[in-house]
Amino acid sequence: MPVSAANALRPNDLEAYWMPFTANRAFKQSPRILASAKNMHYFTPDGRAILDGTAGLWCANAGHSRAPIVAAIQAQAAELDFAPPFQFGHPKAFALASRVAALAPADLDHVFFTNSGSEAVDTALKIALAYHNIRGQGARQRLIGRERGYHGVGFGGTAVGGMVANRKVFGNLLAGVDHLPSTYNRAEQAFTKGEPEWGAHLADELEKIVGLHDSSTIAAVIVEPMAGSTGVLPPPKGYLERLRAICDKHGILLIFDEVICGFGRLGHAFAAERYGVVPDMITFAKGVTSGAVPMGGVIVRKPIYDAFMKGPDHAVELFHGYTYSGHPLACAAGLATLDLYVEEDLFARAAKLEPVWADAVHSLKGLPNVLDIRNVGLTAAIDLAGKPDAPGKRGFEAMDHAFHAFDLLVRIAGDSLVLTPPLIVSEAQIGEIVEKTGKAIRAAA
Ligand code: PMP
Repeated sequence: MPVSAANALRPNDLEAYWMPFTANRAFKQSPRILASAKNMHYFTPDGRAILDGTAGLWCANAGHSRAPIVAAIQAQAAELDFAPPFQFGHPKAFALASRVAALAPADLDHVFFTNSGSEAVDTALKIALAYHNIRGQGARQRLIGRERGYHGVGFGGTAVGGMVANRKVFGNLLAGVDHLPSTYNRAEQAFTKGEPEWGAHLADELEKIVGLHDSSTIAAVIVEPMAGSTGVLPPPKGYLERLRAICDKHGILLIFDEVICGFGRLGHAFAAERYGVVPDMITFAKGVTSGAVPMGGVIVRKPIYDAFMKGPDHAVELFHGYTYSGHPLACAAGLATLDLYVEEDLFARAAKLEPVWADAVHSLKGLPNVLDIRNVGLTAAIDLAGKPDAPGKRGFEAMDHAFHAFDLLVRIAGDSLVLTPPLIVSEAQIGEIVEKTGKAIRAAA
């Protein structure tokens, strides 16, 4: 696929860009540049086709640069580039909110738009605090996350997140945050396909936190149904139900962060549907536009929305929002993306492929340094033994080999390799992803 002149990299340009979540110095020695993309592939400036094992960054569930999404964005840019989202609206924001709400379970039927997953998380946390406040329960201020949770990089999301590297140099973050234990235990769960049998009891740790602080001080619990960024940790069977029951008992809101799980990744519109557990709010991003335009949001249950719709009808009910909430280009991309998901039945396709995918990724068991393999939906992680004294280096090297030597995009979480292909992946491409991942694991041994 040809790369346009505007998309060619000039070597002198490498320096100014401070890249996010990236080893900048190593990158600038040996850059990994993606200049164009189509369907299941990226293309490098020198024309190599790189098989996308990660849907970009868990985003491109419909594949890349899909014609209907591209056309929708182009048409929207020409028709309405921007409209203020405060006190004004544009038709596609209402249309997309209705479509997203229709995909969500039960009475999760109102949608607040943001531009990213981080903003979605901070919005959900603020809605939780404000909700209790307007109902006269303003003492409910504590927020509870989970070890090995990732909820973006806002101050709220960083505080409830459970990744030490993301927290340790950023000071005290939010006060009044507790963490549930991680649901992962290698000794009990290694090489499980799908949801592990062991671990539902870990939800009971919430009772201990309630016992310590009293339920009247606790606003919300936020968890990823499947923790993605720390290496694909599917929920133990029964865990989410138990968490829901404890939250109900104590009047605590339950937030599912579905920034990764949403829009088909686990074979359903949302993980809430897969697990048959209804949270009070769902955060989403990524797959809503297949990554084509930044967008995120929060879906809330009807009683939460209704609680805000009191007071004089000219008064603003929630003092919160972003200049680009429900941006016209994002909404146009979102509507076209949701159409593609329906037309190509991609959520069901992911569900149907799950057993094929599971068998394929688990075939890597026995390769050098492989300590565990996990999968759920169209996601998988392969934990590699790290190098002594250089945590993350083996994972980094496997990712780098995969790209430079084997033309495959994989993602790393420390020394774990994470695979999450677009939902359009073919069975042959699943085979190719797994074969190339195996080569990269061997190369890093
Ligand atoms: N929550 C979860 C569960 C995520 O996986 C991510 C991103 N990987 C975020 C929040 C943050 O999203 P963003 O990077 O769009 O801010």
